[in-house]
Formats: sequence, C-alpha cells, structure tokens
Amino acid sequence: MAYKAPRGTRDVLPDESWKWQRIERVFRATADRFGYREIRLPVFEETELFARGIGDATDIVRKEMYTFTDRKGRSLTLRPEGTAGTVRSFIEHNMGRGARLTKLYYFCPMFRYERPQAGRYRQFWQWGLEAIGSMNPAVDAEIIHFSVDLFESLGLAGAEARVNSAGCPTCTPAYNELLRERLGGKLDQFCDDCKVRYERNPRRMFDCKNEHCLELLEDAPSILESLCEECAEHFASVRKHLERMSVRFVVDSSMARGLDYYTKTVFEVHHEGLGAQSALCGGGRYDALVEELGGAPTPACGVSSGVERLITALTDTGVMTGTEPGPSVYVASLGSEAALAAAAVIAELRKSISVETDYQSRSLKAQMKEAGKLGAGHVVIIGEDEVARGVAVVKNMTTGEQNEVAADEVVAALLVERLASTQSDK
Ligand SMILES: [Zn+2]
Ligand SMILES: [Zn+2]
Repeated sequence: MAYKAPRGTRDVLPDESWKWQRIERVFRATADRFGYREIRLPVFEETELFARGIGDATDIVRKEMYTFTDRKGRSLTLRPEGTAGTVRSFIEHNMGRGARLTKLYYFCPMFRYERPQAGRYRQFWQWGLEAIGSMNPAVDAEIIHFSVDLFESLGLAGAEARVNSAGCPTCTPAYNELLRERLGGKLDQFCDDCKVRYERNPRRMFDCKNEHCLELLEDAPSILESLCEECAEHFASVRKHLERMSVRFVVDSSMARGLDYYTKTVFEVHHEGLGAQSALCGGGRYDALVEELGGAPTPACGVSSGVERLITALTDTGVMTGTEPGPSVYVASLGSEAALAAAAVIAELRKSISVETDYQSRSLKAQMKEAGKLGAGHVVIIGEDEVARGVAVVKNMTTGEQNEVAADEVVAALLVERLASTQSDK
C-alpha cells in the first residue's frame, strides 16, 4: 500500500523550502527591528480556550476545528490560530506585571478542517504579532507599519494598508440595531449562514463569501457613522500616526474582520498585483479578549497572516522565482587518490562556505555539468594529473577563467577570489 500525505496537507520539498526559509528569515529580522520577541506555543490547547477566545458563532469554532478527546477524556483542539494561545500564555505567566507592554511574535503551523482548494490547506502556516498591554493608538500604528514594512522587506513594493474601526461594546449595539433595521427587509434573500449571523451578530454578515450576500450588503450603513467619541478619537489618532510615519493606507469602512474579538482598529494589508483575493494579512485591536479569557482587563492589538498565501503572492508577482541559490563551490575529482585530496579541501572549505561534490564516481565532464546546473560560483577540479603534481584547478564559473593553484592553497585562493567578486558586485 502506497501512503500519501493526508488530504489538505502537503510536503514542502527542497525546491520550495528555500522560499520558506527566506520568508522566515526576513520576518524574524523585521520583528527584531520592531522589538518583538518570539513565543513558541503548544500545538494543541483546551477546546474551551478557542470556543471562548475566537467566538462560538465563528466558522472556525462551528465547523473547522480539529477537536479530539485524549486518553483521560479531556477535549483538546489543534490550534486554528495563534492569538488565543498567546493570550492564554500571557495570563498564565503573568507577563503584564508592572504594567509592561508585552510584544510577542510567532511563526508556526495552524490547523483548520476546511475544504481543500488552491492555496488553502488544513495544516497551514501563520506568522503573527501580538502587543498586549496598551490602549495607545501608536501601538496599532506600529503593527500596521510592521505589516507594510514586512512585505516591502520581502520585495513586494506597493503594499497598502486598509484600515477601519470595529467600534467597542459602547457603540456596536447601536450599529447592530441599525444593520438589523436596514437589512431585515431583505433577509430572505441572504444565505442560511447570514440568517444565523443576522440574529447573533449582524456585523459578521460582511464576512460572507457568497457574492450575492456581498451585493446585498453594498449599501449597508458604515460603522464609522456609529462610533462613540472614544472610538472616533482613537481611530483618528491611528490615522495621524500612520500619516506621520509615511505608511501607505486608505480608510475602508466596509471592512469587517471575521473574528468576534476585534474592537476599535481593524486592518488588512493589500497588494494591487494580486487581484480580488489581495489581502496579505489582517489584524486589529482586541481590548476585551484578555479579560474574556480570565485575565485582568488588558488592551491588546495584533496581526496574523498565512505563509502559503504570501509565497503565492511573492511567486505570482515575480519577486521570488527561479530556484534556490546554488552552492558557492563545487569540488570535482577523478580517481580514488584525487577523491581523498578533494575530501581534505571540502572539509576545509565547509568551515565557512557551502560546498557540493560528487559521490557517484561520474566523469569530470558530468561533474562540471552538474556544477553548472546547481549554479556553483566556482569549481575546484582535482584529476589524477593534478594529484600527482600536488595542484588543483580553480575555475570561476561566471567568467570561465581558470587557474592552477597549489593543493594546500586552494582554500585561501578561493576565499580571496570570492571576497574580490563580492566587492566588485557593490
Ligand atoms: Zn466605541
Ligand atoms: Zn451570506
């Protein structure tokens, strides 16, 4: 019987994993520049945490969780997102003591039982930031700035934030009533999910993926007209900060996030080159969540996004194409004596640079072809004749130039030449 990866999962093979590594590297470096530190969360948590933290009415909790009972009868769930676990950890470890602002990031796989389709998997990766412990609109602006900066650092120029306010418990009841009033007359035209949303939380109807529902919502009233004074001032300050920081953004009053816990700021970052499904990340403020999950009342703000979507975006826009950068040096040898001389050179080179070689006793010609295919910058050639004379040939694959070097000077010669070529690049 031939096994396959479970439906909705996939292997990331070496031809693609270098893209993942590059994204993770840039993400970590960006998080570092913005002063966020990594948290590594458990893969599963108590089911109740997600039901409380994400919201009973959400699609995630109603239909998409991987929930199982362990051997002691506890209900556990594979994490479908990172915020609930981060907040649980924040409370458990009393990170907010001394009224500190806690700034955390994660980069890890999540699990949702969704219908698999292009770019959507049941095990998928997310990166995210959470800043817990401040109401300051400057924190919201920092997280939005981070998100735009990250995509630009990855080479995706022209990313733009869309910002909105989701209001707060003071102003949303009036807005919900207004929505019910305006939408009630045509409720029978909405999908069944929207009819449930209408009763439980009509703002969630904006998250419907049904085209017809979205058309019906086009002339729905904007939340910005229903904001209380505090929310309106907070939102104005977020926008002022973004302007002063020269972060590209627009106000999009129709945007609502799919999670119940957002209050005040919500945002997405979009890229025009990606068409309708152009959102690269989404986030916002969740001032009630820490208390909802059993902590002291603590305001917070965060962002998260799927890594698979980002890879598709970087590939589709031509930012990340082609293959992985090849090894710096390929060492080709012929005959068992030469292979031993090559082994010594390889061991020395690998102290500082990447080296590939042949272990299949192929001809020198085949090895040179392989070196070209891998994209090696230099090739060291050691044949029987070279071994006999105690030398090696060093070939620069870019210029085609080759030199004979004493065997014990190969490493030094390569390092000098590589240094010279990186300097002439600049
Ligand atoms: Zn409000
Ligand atoms: Zn609908």
